[in-house]
Amino acid sequence: MSVIITSHRPRLTVDLAAVAENYRTLAAMRPKAEMAAVVKANCYGLGVDRIAPTLYEAGCRTFFVAYSFEGVHLRWLLSEYDENVRICVFNGPTDDVEIYTRHRLTPILNTIDQMSMWRTHGNEAPCMVHLDTGMNRLGLSEDDFDAICTPEMAELNVTHLISHFAHGSDPKSPRNRMQAEKFATHFNALAALWPGLKPSLSASAGLFLPLEIDEALARPGVTLYGAGPQDHPESTLKTVASLHAPILQIRDISPGETCGYSGTFTARHPTRLATIGIGYADGYCRALSNKGVVRINGQNCSVVGNVSMDLIIADISDVEDDTQVGDMAECFGENIRVEDHAARAGTIAYEIFTMLGGRIDRVYR
Ligand SMILES: *Cc1c(COP(=O)(O)O)cnc(C)c1O
Repeated sequence: MSVIITSHRPRLTVDLAAVAENYRTLAAMRPKAEMAAVVKANCYGLGVDRIAPTLYEAGCRTFFVAYSFEGVHLRWLLSEYDENVRICVFNGPTDDVEIYTRHRLTPILNTIDQMSMWRTHGNEAPCMVHLDTGMNRLGLSEDDFDAICTPEMAELNVTHLISHFAHGSDPKSPRNRMQAEKFATHFNALAALWPGLKPSLSASAGLFLPLEIDEALARPGVTLYGAGPQDHPESTLKTVASLHAPILQIRDISPGETCGYSGTFTARHPTRLATIGIGYADGYCRALSNKGVVRINGQNCSVVGNVSMDLIIADISDVEDDTQVGDMAECFGENIRVEDHAARAGTIAYEIFTMLGGRIDRVYR
C-alpha cells in the first residue's frame, strides 16, 4: 500500500466508510434488535466528531457514552442531524442530574441511590437500569431486589434493563450462558414492575457468542472500530484505523554496536536502521521495546532498542534498498492487525486506540 505523505508526523487514518459498513454488518447479526453504538471516550480515541455523524447516517439512533459531559457534546454534535437521538450515559447521575434533564440524556441507573435520585428529581423521563449478573462492577445486585420492587420504583419510566458479559472475550466460557440465564430470569421478574421493559445484553463480544440472546438493543463499541471482538478480529469486520509514522533517518551500524537508550539491542551483523517518528508520547507503548513490528515497503521489520518518547528504531536490513527518508511505516492497520500489535505490547486493542496521542495527525476518509 502506498501512502501519501502529508507531514512528517505520525498519522492515524480512520476509514469512515468502514465504520458504516461495520455498523450495518453488526445490525444484520441481530435483525430483531435495535443496534446502538458505544461512542464513549471520543469513540475509543478515534474521534467522535467524525464518527458519530457517520454512525447516524448509517442508521444508528441510540448512542452510549460514559459521562454526562460526553453526552452533552454528542447532543450538540448530532443536533444538526436530529434533535431526538437517544443518548445514554453508562455511569448515571451523581451531582449532575440537572444536566441529564437539560440535555435529555438517558441515564443508566446502577444503584438504588441513583434510582431514588432519578425518581425524586421528579423525572418521568426515560431511564435504563443496569443489573449486574456476574461482572461485579457496575449495576444492581440480587440483594437490591427488595428495595427495587416497590410502588415508588414502579413509577420510574424504565425502558431497558441492561447487563454486561464479564467473559465475552472467551466464547467457550460457561459463565456467558450463566449470565444470560440469570439475566433472563430477572428480566421476567422486573418486566412485571416496568411494563414494556426491553432487554439489552450484548456489547461487541456478546454479538459473536455462540448463544441465542433475545434482546431488543445491542451496544457494540470496539467492533464498529474494526477490532476484536475477541483476541482475533472477525473476518466480516473492516479495518477502520491505521497508524503510520515517517522514517526520519536511515543509518548503517556494525556488529557490536547498540541503539537507543541503554543500548538494549546489539547488532550481530551489519545492520541498517530506520529511525521513525513515533514514540510512547503518541501511544506507541514502551512495552514494545525490542518487541514491536512495523511494516515498511511491504516487509515486516522488528523494532530494536528501547522505544523513546518521540522515536522508535526499526531494523530495515531486509527491506528493499530504495527505502528512504519520508517513507511511512505502518504501526498497525491493514497489514499489522491492531490485536497483534496490542498483544505484543501486553494489552488489548481498546487500550491501543484510547492511548493514541494528541500529536498524531488524524485523517478521515
Ligand atoms: C464499553 C461498554 C460497551 C461496549 O463494549 P465493546 O466491547 O467495545 O463493544 C457496552 N456496554 C457497556 C456497559 C460498556 O461499558
